[in-house]
Amino acid sequence: MPARVLVVDDHQLNVKLLEARLSSEYYDVITAADGFIALEMVRERRPDIVLLDIMMPGMDGFEVCRHMKADPALEHIPVIMVTALRDPASRVRGLEAGADDFLTKPIDDIALLARVRSLLRMKMVLDELHLRDYTNLQLGAIDDGAFTADSGADAHILVVEDDADDAALIESVLSRENAVRCVNTAEAALNAPGDEPLDLIIVSLELDGYDGLRLCSQLRSHDATRHVPLLMLVDQDHTQRMVKGLDLGINDYLYKPIERNELIARARSQIRHKRYQDRLRNAYRRSVSLALTDSLTGLYNRRYLTSHLASLVGRLAAEGKPLALAMVDIDHFKAVNDTHGHAAGDDVLRELARLLKRFIRSSDLAARLGGEEFVVVMPDTGVGGAEAITSRLRRAVADSTGVKAPITVSIGVAELQGPNDTPERLLRRADDALYEAKRGGRNRVIAAAG
Ligand code: GH3
Ligand code: MG
Ligand code: MG
Repeated sequence: MPARVLVVDDHQLNVKLLEARLSSEYYDVITAADGFIALEMVRERRPDIVLLDIMMPGMDGFEVCRHMKADPALEHIPVIMVTALRDPASRVRGLEAGADDFLTKPIDDIALLARVRSLLRMKMVLDELHLRDYTNLQLGAIDDGAFTADSGADAHILVVEDDADDAALIESVLSRENAVRCVNTAEAALNAPGDEPLDLIIVSLELDGYDGLRLCSQLRSHDATRHVPLLMLVDQDHTQRMVKGLDLGINDYLYKPIERNELIARARSQIRHKRYQDRLRNAYRRSVSLALTDSLTGLYNRRYLTSHLASLVGRLAAEGKPLALAMVDIDHFKAVNDTHGHAAGDDVLRELARLLKRFIRSSDLAARLGGEEFVVVMPDTGVGGAEAITSRLRRAVADSTGVKAPITVSIGVAELQGPNDTPERLLRRADDALYEAKRGGRNRVIAAAG
């Protein structure tokens, strides 16, 4: 599906020019002739990007942009201000209103299209993260750190610039609200990312003896800097390099000579985006781990156990290696709940999980199968070894004074039987052994007969 571009301008001719140019690139172009209609279109048609004129009767572009950025549903739609205003103060005002870029008429088509492509790419990444976040919302696993609330300050910034004056200027401007480190060679930059994770890297494309664009793509492919936004510094007459940089995935650019406030505005905006994406990524990671772990005990859940066991059995059976499995069930647990209450019962479950983690080895895996039933998977271990380990666990549980309701556990162990055995059969044999332990009087370990 082609990306949808909203063009907003009160001059019909400007609209027509941009529309023709964008349509020839196969974008789906919609238009608005003033700020009010623009906001209506943004809400109803959800464009992927907005090209926004500033001077319009009624509501100007700054105000349209501010309205969009104040609405959580619209704030992530990129805005490029396209305007006849060329003074630095207006640029900064536009960026501070939340615009992602500010292009001056007459528009350089190539630069405009490169910018549109680059912002659309970044929006796609964000849309993907939002989609996952929507799932998190539904699972109740959200981190709702607002994007707009972030000041975009207190960041760790690396500056790669061999022009001493520019480096000094950037440092003096940005170090007021950030930790700034300057290096003057590409080599130093590639070795720089160290202790503190970076929030922004500013790279001069005018480095002596090194191609700044190459450096940017190297930084992009390093694990430590992959998700760190890149801001390139480029000479005013090097638009082609700037365009190439945007197509390479560099997030933003700043023309030399550097304008202080524009530097601040662009740096803040990139830092805010970075942190917002970090939060979304972390929320996603957490939700993945939530889906695979049991919230009461922090052990793996049945879902994880099932898939883990399937791959483990497949691998070890093929290699002819042993694998043991223990099924652990609390004795008369119902009575604990009945006597001490459900909360005390939960404490017992947590305490048992704690002991399980302590008694298993790092290569073993403990999971809560459900209720008061747990499973321990022990690779490279035969039934004898498993019996020894779980007997120690059984004694530790019986001796534990960690909770007010003393308990015991019954345990059934079984081992993998040859290359044709399956996880289901292994679980079944351990369960049968557990049943025998219960029938035999509880508080004991029974190994399934080979
Ligand atoms: P047995 O020795 O034969 O295993 O007896 P039991 O009472 O442990 O077994 P039964 O299966 O009859 O009872 C299990 C109890 O575990 C019933 C249920 O209320 C309780 N239970 C299951 N999940 C939880 C939980 O998450 N928290 C608490 N507090 N209790 C739970
Ligand atoms: Mg029980
Ligand atoms: Mg039970």
